[in-house]
Amino acid sequence: MLEVKNLSVFYGRHRAVENVAAQVSPGEIVVMLGANGAGKSTFLRAIAGQTPAMPGSSVVMDGSDITHRPPHEIVETGIALVPEDRGVFADLTVHENLVLGAHPKRARPHEVANMERVLTLFPKLAARRKQLVRTMSGGERQMVAVGRAMMSAPSILMLDEPSLGLAPLVCGELFRSLARIKETGVGILLVEQNAKQGLAIADRGYLLDNGHVTGSDSAEALSNDEKVRKAYLGAG
Ligand code: ATP
Repeated sequence: MLEVKNLSVFYGRHRAVENVAAQVSPGEIVVMLGANGAGKSTFLRAIAGQTPAMPGSSVVMDGSDITHRPPHEIVETGIALVPEDRGVFADLTVHENLVLGAHPKRARPHEVANMERVLTLFPKLAARRKQLVRTMSGGERQMVAVGRAMMSAPSILMLDEPSLGLAPLVCGELFRSLARIKETGVGILLVEQNAKQGLAIADRGYLLDNGHVTGSDSAEALSNDEKVRKAYLGAG
């Protein structure tokens, strides 16, 4: 279980994230909704150890305090981040990208089984193992990015705007694969501007505005909330 409390990140004097609290349990999908610049990427990067959190912040994974630990140690606790730019290596093949995801010590002994799991999850990738990622569509690259993260056998999978730049049909396919990952007991934390898609697969959600959590509820309640509908779902 991932438990975040009082998480604050400043860039100089700019407060990108302030006193944010959130939790993700195994086997649930949690979405954090926020507009451009709300602090969504900063929030995920701080959990992953890629951006320093302010003193007083607390990130606890399965009972261990991981605040201020370096990114490679955080990966070993079972947290994987699919960044907004996807972070795949365009000049390597699908297979090579996936193998790189198995680098963490926790995953190395299980590389073969994890590869099988990822290729079952994304049959398209199985057929294209030798293809250079540079020649793939945006949706396929996103599958490689999620597949690579899954090769580290995470118990919490974090995704930064996975729907960005994807056509609705492709996005639907990707989100269905996230639902299948959830069924295996992985907890998923996704940040999204695309509130409709995000709330459709999530169990719970948080609203992030200007670096602050301004609301949290079940995905169903958020979808029906008048303020959320106006601010995030484009309802009149
Ligand atoms: P987007 O959806 O546009 O990616 P976001 O919700 O992910 O936005 P962040 O990227 O976390 O938001 O940015 C939050 C705020 O912090 C913004 O005002 C942004 O300009 C600022 N910011 C982000 N990274 C840096 C940085 N490295 N240095 C200074 N300011 C930054």
